[in-house]
Amino acid sequence: MKEPFIDDPSLQVILKDIPTPFYLYDERGIRTAVRRLRSAFAWNPGFREYYAVKAAPTPGILQILKEEGCGCDCATETELLLAERCGFGSEDIVFSSNDTPASAYRKALETGAYINLDDISHIDMLDEIVDEWPKTVLLRYNPGGIFALGESKEGFQVMDTPEESKFGMTEAQIHAAVEALQKRGVECFGLHAFLASNTLSDEYYPVLAEKLFELAVRMHIKHGCPIPCIDLSGGIGIPYRPEQRENNIEAIGEGVRRAYEKILVPAGLTDTAIWTELGRYITGPHGALITRVIHRKETYRTYIGTDSGSQDLLRPAMYGAYHHITVMGKEKDPCDGLYDVTGSLCENNDKLAVQRPLPSPAVGDVLFIHDAGAHGHSMGFQYNGQLRCAEYLYCCDGSVRLLRRRETPDDLFATLVW
Ligand SMILES: *Cc1c(COP(=O)(O)O)cnc(C)c1O
Repeated sequence: MKEPFIDDPSLQVILKDIPTPFYLYDERGIRTAVRRLRSAFAWNPGFREYYAVKAAPTPGILQILKEEGCGCDCATETELLLAERCGFGSEDIVFSSNDTPASAYRKALETGAYINLDDISHIDMLDEIVDEWPKTVLLRYNPGGIFALGESKEGFQVMDTPEESKFGMTEAQIHAAVEALQKRGVECFGLHAFLASNTLSDEYYPVLAEKLFELAVRMHIKHGCPIPCIDLSGGIGIPYRPEQRENNIEAIGEGVRRAYEKILVPAGLTDTAIWTELGRYITGPHGALITRVIHRKETYRTYIGTDSGSQDLLRPAMYGAYHHITVMGKEKDPCDGLYDVTGSLCENNDKLAVQRPLPSPAVGDVLFIHDAGAHGHSMGFQYNGQLRCAEYLYCCDGSVRLLRRRETPDDLFATLVW
C-alpha cells in the first residue's frame, strides 16, 4: 500500500488556510533521499549530486538541496538564471543542454558552469562565444542501438532506444571532439550519458557506469587526458505503482563501486569523481498534488471532477503515466468501482487517472495524488486560461511554508498587448 507522507488530520489543518489545488512537498523526505544517495556513494570522495532543476524549479526546494550539498543540472538559460539566484556558484552547476542557443552558452560560460557538450558541431559555435575555453569540458555519449537489461518472462526491466534519441555523440565523435578541444586548450574531460528513464532496476547505473568507464579508459589511452568526472546523469526511477519495488540505492552505489574497481582503477584512473543528475529519485515521491472533488458525474462511466487537472500534472495525459491516488479520510475503505478522475480542460485526455479503483470519492473529498514531486508542477501549462497552482513545503517541524503563489489572471495577461 502507498501511504501519503501526511496523515488526514494534519492535512485537514492545512486545508483550513490553503485553498486547493496545490502542491505539497515533504522537506524531511527530500533531505532523507539526498542523504541516502550520498551515503551509497560515500566510497567515492568526489561524489556529487547535481539535481536536475527541470524536475522542480522552485527556489525553496533548490535551497534545501543546496544545504544538503547538491549542485544542480541546468538545460536552459532560464534554469541557469534560477540556479544563480539560488546561490549556486561555478563549481555547482552542470549545463547539460541540447540544441543549445548561443545565448544559453553565453550565460553558462558567464556563470562558470561545467559545459556538457551534446554535439561535436557545438565546438565551432562555442568558438564564436568563448574568450578562453574552460579547462574541463564534459562530453555526452550516445552508444546507439538498443539499451536493455534484466530480461524476464514479462520482458525487459529496462529498455530504451538510444539510437532514436536526439541526445549525445557517437564514440567516434567523442574522440574527434577531444582532439579538437585539446587543440583549443581544454585539458580535462568528463563523460556523461542518459540512456534510460525512470528505471526500476538496481542494475541500470552499474551497467551504464561500465559503458562510460570503458569509454573513459579508451579516451585516456588514446588522448592521454585526465578524466576528472563521470556523470551518470538521471534515470533512477521510483515505484509509481503500489505493486512496484523501490530501488535499493545502497546496492546501486555498490554496483557502481565494483565497476569502478574493475575498470577505472586498473587503468590508473583512481580519482575520477562520480556525479549524478537525479531529479525524480530525489523529489518525486516527496511531492503531492492536493486537489478536491468538485463534481461526480455518472454517464457511461463515473467521472470524478477535480479542481485540478492536466494543467497541474501532465504526466498521465502525456505518457499515460500512473500516479497513485489516496482519497483522504477513506484510506481504509474498500474500492467500490472504477473511476476516471478528470480536470476541466476541453480535451478528453485531461484525466489524472483512467478506470481507477477508488473508495467511492464524493464531492468535497480531498485527493492526495502521489509522486508528483518531480516533473509535476514544472510541466504545468496555461491552456484554457488555467492558472498554475501554488506550491507549499511541509517542513520538518510540521509547519507549512509557501514556495510559490498561485497565478492570477494578471500573471497570465502580463505578456499580452491589448
Ligand atoms: C531530465 C534529466 C535529468 C533528470 O532525470 P530524472 O528522470 O528526473 O532522474 C538529468 N539529466 C538530464 C540531462 C536530464 O535531461
